[in-house]
Amino acid sequence: MDVLICGGGVIGASIAYFLSCRGVKAIVFESTGVACAASGKSGGFLERDWCDGSPLAPLARRSFALHAELAEKLAGEWGYRRLDTYGGFAGFGRHRGAGAAQWLSDAVTVTQALGSPETTAQVHPRLFTAAMMHAAKVQGAELRHGRVTGVRQRDGRATGVEVDGTIVDGDAVVVAMGPWSILAASWLPLPAIFGLKGHSLVFDTGTRVPGEAVFLEYREHNGVMLSPEVFPRNDGTTYVCAISSEEPLPLDPTEVMPDLGAIERLEAMCAAISPVLASARIVARQACYRPVTRDGLPLIGPVPGVADAYVATGHSVWGILNAPATGEAMAELIVDGAAHMVDLEAFNPGRMPPVDRPSRK
Ligand SMILES: Cc1cc2nc3c(=O)[nH]c(=O)nc-3n(C[C@H](O)[C@H](O)[C@H](O)COP(=O)(O)OP(=O)(O)OC[C@H]3O[C@@H](n4cnc5c(N)ncnc54)[C@H](O)[C@@H]3O)c2cc1C
Repeated sequence: MDVLICGGGVIGASIAYFLSCRGVKAIVFESTGVACAASGKSGGFLERDWCDGSPLAPLARRSFALHAELAEKLAGEWGYRRLDTYGGFAGFGRHRGAGAAQWLSDAVTVTQALGSPETTAQVHPRLFTAAMMHAAKVQGAELRHGRVTGVRQRDGRATGVEVDGTIVDGDAVVVAMGPWSILAASWLPLPAIFGLKGHSLVFDTGTRVPGEAVFLEYREHNGVMLSPEVFPRNDGTTYVCAISSEEPLPLDPTEVMPDLGAIERLEAMCAAISPVLASARIVARQACYRPVTRDGLPLIGPVPGVADAYVATGHSVWGILNAPATGEAMAELIVDGAAHMVDLEAFNPGRMPPVDRPSRK
């Protein structure tokens, strides 16, 4: 059985890995580079129970456990570690937060512990995605460079994909192109998928920042509120993201650029919240798009009305966290006909109407 996976982000790579664990051949088509988009530029923060009370809870809890298992089981280093997580605010005058996070400036007030090593963790998302793809390849998966431009169908079934003008036949097709999955809505009856842009900086902080994550509410000098997330990593870098925007998604992933002025705002914010960040070298200034759906829940499951066609996208702010359980569930669905570890009903792609497609004359 050959499963054709469109997209080499964390979701495509995780599906390929879990299919390869079941002895199924996965062929991943990636137009630009593995983890070139949000999967390589996100925070990589993981939490066990922040989704409790929402339909995402079972997926998140299973995935949090799978991240720990994968870090034990697979060779490779992708910066997995458990860590303390704090919350607070900044930009409201000079305060000094008690206790934690002393590497932050005295304009920051730390108000609460949001997580402990039992409930919060992190990975380096690009390295994690690459490691999942590598582990899949070791077990027989294939990665091919190419832009998918269509899904072939015969008698109501998906029979292959069109890649750079060439048809590749397969037994099942999975759309996992993150926000670019919207392109597949003109090939298959899929609901709308959007891209929501976020900006980030990566600093070379060496050993000057301890392994603790921080979520802040920050007021800029003009009163605009931002919600920075700060994640020191065990490779000696510190990742900071904030500033979302509704700038349209470029068709080509290589054309994603930061909005005008966003990086300068981020740099000013970072300098205000930590003297360490103020003096550290910046090693990346970047932007990426998280894939989102109308109801905020991912699309994970069969494409309605087209046998052997599947979709896995729309993971919004929790794509790195939820990738392993999504990969596991998709492999179960494709190989066994149903997911066993997590109930996918809430993520059924058929719960929302498909995007209107241009009719063919
Ligand atoms: C600023 C920011 C911070 C985040 N922080 C976190 C976090 O801390 N924790 C967390 O769990 N999540 C986080 N996320 C969310 C997470 O990054 C995403 O949900 C996740 O990376 C989405 O993965 P994906 O594989 O669906 O999509 P993507 O990473 O977008 O991958 C899609 C891939 O498809 C490829 N592609 C596109 N079109 C085609 C085509 N036609 N043919 C072939 N390939 C194609 C692209 O090149 C790309 O590689 C964050 C997101 C942002 C924006």
